[in-house]
Amino acid sequence: MIHNFNAGPSILPDQVLQEAAQAVLNFNDTGLSILEIGHRTPLFEAVLDEARSLVRELMSLGSQYEILFLHGGGTTQFMQVPMNLLDEAGTAAYIDTGVWSSKAISYAKLFGRVKVLASSQDANYTYIPKNFSVDPPVTYLHITTNNTIYGTEWHRIPDGKGVPLVADMSSDIMSRVTDFSKFDLIYAGAQKNMGAAGVTLVVLKKSLLGKVQRKIPGILDYQKHIEAGSMLNTPPVFAIYVTLLTLRWLKAQGGVAAMDKANTEKAGLLYDALDRLPVFKPTVVKEDRSRMNACFVMKDPALEQAFAERCKQEGMYGVKGHRSVGGFRISLYNALPLSSVKDIVALMEDFAKTHG
Ligand code: PMP
Repeated sequence: MIHNFNAGPSILPDQVLQEAAQAVLNFNDTGLSILEIGHRTPLFEAVLDEARSLVRELMSLGSQYEILFLHGGGTTQFMQVPMNLLDEAGTAAYIDTGVWSSKAISYAKLFGRVKVLASSQDANYTYIPKNFSVDPPVTYLHITTNNTIYGTEWHRIPDGKGVPLVADMSSDIMSRVTDFSKFDLIYAGAQKNMGAAGVTLVVLKKSLLGKVQRKIPGILDYQKHIEAGSMLNTPPVFAIYVTLLTLRWLKAQGGVAAMDKANTEKAGLLYDALDRLPVFKPTVVKEDRSRMNACFVMKDPALEQAFAERCKQEGMYGVKGHRSVGGFRISLYNALPLSSVKDIVALMEDFAKTHG
C-alpha cells in the first residue's frame, strides 16, 4: 500500500488519473489523443468553458470576476501581479510569511514600491503575523494564504480597510470554505489541490486593470488574456484537462464545503497524534497551523533517520520537510484519503511506542 503525502505536485484522485490516461489514448471517443488536438477546436473550447464555469460555481464567484488559466506557475504571478497593478510611484503592501511571499516581495520591488507590513521571519515563519495595519494609500495588499514550506495558514482573512486584497492560494485553493468575494485577485498553481502542474488559475476583478502607465507585453497582460479567453497563445491543454477532471471530481464530492469538512478531520487526526505522542514536536503555533501541510521535527533529532526509514519501508511517500527547513512535512491535500492519515498515525503511534 502506497500513501502519497507529496507537497506538490501531489496526489490526485484515482478516478482523475484513470480518465486522464484514457484521454491520452482516446479523447471523448474521437480516436485522437487529448495531446494531439488543436486548442482552437470545439473539443478543447468545451473543456475550457466547463473548467471556467466549474471554478465560478465552486468558488461562488460573481460576474465581476474573470477566470484565467495561464502558464508559468505561481512564480510568474509574483511578477505578473505587480506588472499589471502597481505603478512605479505606487506602493504595494505585502505580508512576509516565508519563502514564497519573500519571492513575491522581491519581484514586486522590480515594478514599484513595496512596504512589508509584517513578517514572521523572527520565528522562522512558524506563525502568521497579526499585528499590522494597512494605511492607505496602498495599491494592494498581498498575502500567501497557506505557507507550504512551514505549515502555516491564514485562518482569518485580514481586514484590508478597502485596499484591494491579492492572495497566493497555491496550496490551499478549493480546500476550505472561504469568502472569495473579499479578494480582488487570487492566483494558484493547480498542482496541489486542483489538478496537474503546468496551469495556474487566476481569478481577478476586471476593475483592477488599466491603471498602470507602463507598457505590458501581451503575454503578461491580464487584459489581453481576458479578451482572448485564456487563448492568447497555446494554453497548457493537458494540464487544463486534468484540472477539469479534478474540478468535476471535487463537485461530485460535495464541492469546497465537503473538502473543508474532510480536510478538517484529516488535519485534526494528525495534529492530535503530533501533540499526543512524546517523540514528535509540531513546529507551528497552534492557532496558525495549516490544514494542508503539517510540519514537525523529532524531539530527539537522532530519531529523524529512523523515522524517515520507517516511513519509506511502509510506502509513505513525501514526508520529508522542505530542503530549506528540514524535519518532516505531511501534506493533506484534497485528494488524500482519510485512510492515508489513519495509516500514518498508526505508524507514528507504533514508532513512539518503540522509541519513546
Ligand atoms: N506559492 C506557494 C504557496 C507555493 O507553495 C509554491 C510552490 N510550491 C509557489 C507559490 C510557486 O509555484 P510554482 O512552482 O507553480 O511557480
